[in-house]
Amino acid sequence: MNLSIQANDIQAVIDADRAHVWHHLIQHKPFEAIDPRIMVEGRGMRVWDATGKEHLDAVSGGVWTVNVGYGRESIANAVRDQLIKMNYFANSAGSIPGALFAKKLIEKMPGMSRVYYSNSGSEANEKAFKMIRQISHRHHGGKKYKILYRDRDYHGTTLAALSAGGQPQRVEQYGPLAPGFVMVPHCLEYRSQYPDAESYGEAAANAIEEVILREGPDTVGGLCLEPITAGGGVITPPAGYWERVQEICRKYNILLHIDEVVCGVGRTGAWFGYQHYGIKPDFVTMAKGVASGYAAISCTVTTEAVFEQFKDDAGDPMSYFRDISTFGGCAAGPAAALENMRIIEDEKLIDNTQAMGHRLFDNLLALQEKHAVIGEVRGKGLFVGAELVEDRHSRTPAEEKRVQAVVADCMAQGVIIGATNRSLPGFNNTLCLSPALIATASDIDQITDSIDQALTRVFG
Ligand code: PLP
Repeated sequence: MNLSIQANDIQAVIDADRAHVWHHLIQHKPFEAIDPRIMVEGRGMRVWDATGKEHLDAVSGGVWTVNVGYGRESIANAVRDQLIKMNYFANSAGSIPGALFAKKLIEKMPGMSRVYYSNSGSEANEKAFKMIRQISHRHHGGKKYKILYRDRDYHGTTLAALSAGGQPQRVEQYGPLAPGFVMVPHCLEYRSQYPDAESYGEAAANAIEEVILREGPDTVGGLCLEPITAGGGVITPPAGYWERVQEICRKYNILLHIDEVVCGVGRTGAWFGYQHYGIKPDFVTMAKGVASGYAAISCTVTTEAVFEQFKDDAGDPMSYFRDISTFGGCAAGPAAALENMRIIEDEKLIDNTQAMGHRLFDNLLALQEKHAVIGEVRGKGLFVGAELVEDRHSRTPAEEKRVQAVVADCMAQGVIIGATNRSLPGFNNTLCLSPALIATASDIDQITDSIDQALTRVFG
């Protein structure tokens, strides 16, 4: 790897960054005391920062995104060719990659039918929320406008998406939020709210029904859930949960919106997370892994039945989805997504995700035998979390600063791992691992070896 950046150039970049870049999710004061980390190059599973230090990236670009790994020239070429040929036209017209990617995507999603393009996970979710609201206006006299979301789930950063945010520290200080969003309880069995229930999964789903009954079923239009909660604690659904959730949605005519922004496009060892659980959604939203970060693209995918509800049978000019996104479906995004999907298929990356996901899970279970601080290992495919506790019996969450010390120790060893959200008491104590779907056995072992060493140093 030739990183021929001169020391002076690095300093100029760092100075410019420090003077002018407002970083995402970085506290200002502590950041002032350290040099910003500037990432300059990536190949496969590895990235190099401006100091020339090599890192094994166990979090796919920090936030579960670079599913097919770094340095994919074929994706860059597909985008380049498309940009030269036809860089942009508003998506009221079509594009070749936009049409071809939609067809290919729908082939992976039996039961789904239509793809609405935008640029980020937040937007994809907002489009679904708007569709649910419009269906309420058109078909339920505006009454079925409420959208339920779950404690611990996250659906994005824009104000309406934030209003469906179950992680208080992201929401506080941004109110007033959008009305009509109602929270339902989470479903983390390890921290069960229903210790006496015969089936935790059913009890957790029944808690959703209770909220529906409290709010009035004819006022609830949609339920938005992550198939496996990501940043809120890597929460896998308990047995029986999804069956009951589906039943409840059918019973009260509530549209089921699955947020696959993290779980989608192979991450969990299936094309989509919901496909592990036999769920039949009305909406599926996706973003990050759709083009693995090579271009900005997100999709709101719906059934034909949802699409049908916007048909202008009576010649009503207000009937269709009155929404636009200037760059949504802009040709570079679907061009990158098409090539991204070809790579996943041709390189059999879903099979690899299953195999390497098992290895990662098993390695962490072995570490659990050795380190009492690992309370529970959860996840599916290459999307795994290890919840750290001070004491296995009481399950008292490990202190946030010690969890962060583990992350920092791995970083010093040259392995980038993540942890669930800061300042989320009781839920900021889970180490998060989401390596690219190309991970090899030795990558996985390097990741878990570094965690082993870090846990020994931090917790003894
Ligand atoms: N949904 C989930 C489950 C996410 O984890 C995220 C971001 O991390 C989003 C939606 C928002 O996506 P974006 O940051 O692209 O707007």
